[in-house]
Amino acid sequence: MSNCFILLAAGKGKRFKSKNPKQFVNYKNKPLFMHSVDKALKSNLFKEIVIVTNKKIKMSYKNIKIIKGGKERYKSSQKALDFIKNKKFVNVFIHDAARPNFSINLLKNLKKHLGKNKAVVPYINTENTTKYVNKNKIINLKREKVLLTQTPQCFRFKDLYNLSKYNKQLVTDEATLFLNNNKKIKFIKGEETNIKITKKTDLDTSIIKTFYGIGFDIHRLIKNKKLYLGGIKIPFHSGLKGHSDGDVILHSIIDALLGSLRKKDIGTLYPSNKNNFKNIRSPKMLRPIISDLKKNNYIINNLDINLICERPKVSKHRNKIINSLSKLMNIDKNIINLKGKTVEKLGLIGKENAIACEAIVSINKYE
Ligand code: ZN
Repeated sequence: MSNCFILLAAGKGKRFKSKNPKQFVNYKNKPLFMHSVDKALKSNLFKEIVIVTNKKIKMSYKNIKIIKGGKERYKSSQKALDFIKNKKFVNVFIHDAARPNFSINLLKNLKKHLGKNKAVVPYINTENTTKYVNKNKIINLKREKVLLTQTPQCFRFKDLYNLSKYNKQLVTDEATLFLNNNKKIKFIKGEETNIKITKKTDLDTSIIKTFYGIGFDIHRLIKNKKLYLGGIKIPFHSGLKGHSDGDVILHSIIDALLGSLRKKDIGTLYPSNKNNFKNIRSPKMLRPIISDLKKNNYIINNLDINLICERPKVSKHRNKIINSLSKLMNIDKNIINLKGKTVEKLGLIGKENAIACEAIVSINKYE
């Protein structure tokens, strides 16, 4: 295994317009350059990884070396090649830290082709109709003959070192050195997803935070009252006693949602000693919480409910209740689960004198 991976991370990124160079901004939960480092490590192809950067960074891996970069990309590359010149590497991979999305498979593929070649470079074709300005003339290029080259690129160390050593031209990749000197390059198909991050809009910097909430409720069953569960009327011999309509499903969902939002509980929001909430229907209590979620960029991921009662049979009403919840909460039916749980005819619930419910909810926030 005498391969070395050089990661060029010294660029200032003028188009990026940020004090923190783009290689170090948070990208999918880690500094952008770390995506390349992690893949190089995971591939097990490299004896040493050299990071070329002008920023002070610390690495705790023994086989990762950090060196200072040059003013231009090609100078950083020269410095890295010089740094490893006596380390007896046969092959060297060079990669721009601004491309975090290449695959380990691409590294392996490059290595495979290096067996018979001295330079292997990935490319993609363009979807755009391409023109070339040559002095005063603009000519159409055949799309399929236009190669957009990417990194990582890999080379026989000796060959690249000899070409790079005396170069004074501002080349933007190592393949150019080979072309300028009429040396052969093996071009292999690259990856469309291996884009170069150049502008802030190329980054999806959103960080997802997940919160959970749990809710529980129980109400006594009494005669001459309608039974409401999950916002709908269910035919039954009794209804649930309470300040409101006693809908244990909606009440436990409200508490679960308030829990996930860290906003206390249903009793604080709707005090039972206030007359304006007397006989309030539970969907009305739920509504402001759902709009609060939306307003603050939260998305409900899933909702799981245990309805604890001897009767009514949950299986008989499950679909109707889930449909109702999906409408009331403005969420997909597929993320709601409703389980029925009996209690072996034990206690108040077992004697059909009460119904209880538990709910757990998970919500995401994009920041
Ligand atoms: Zn309640």
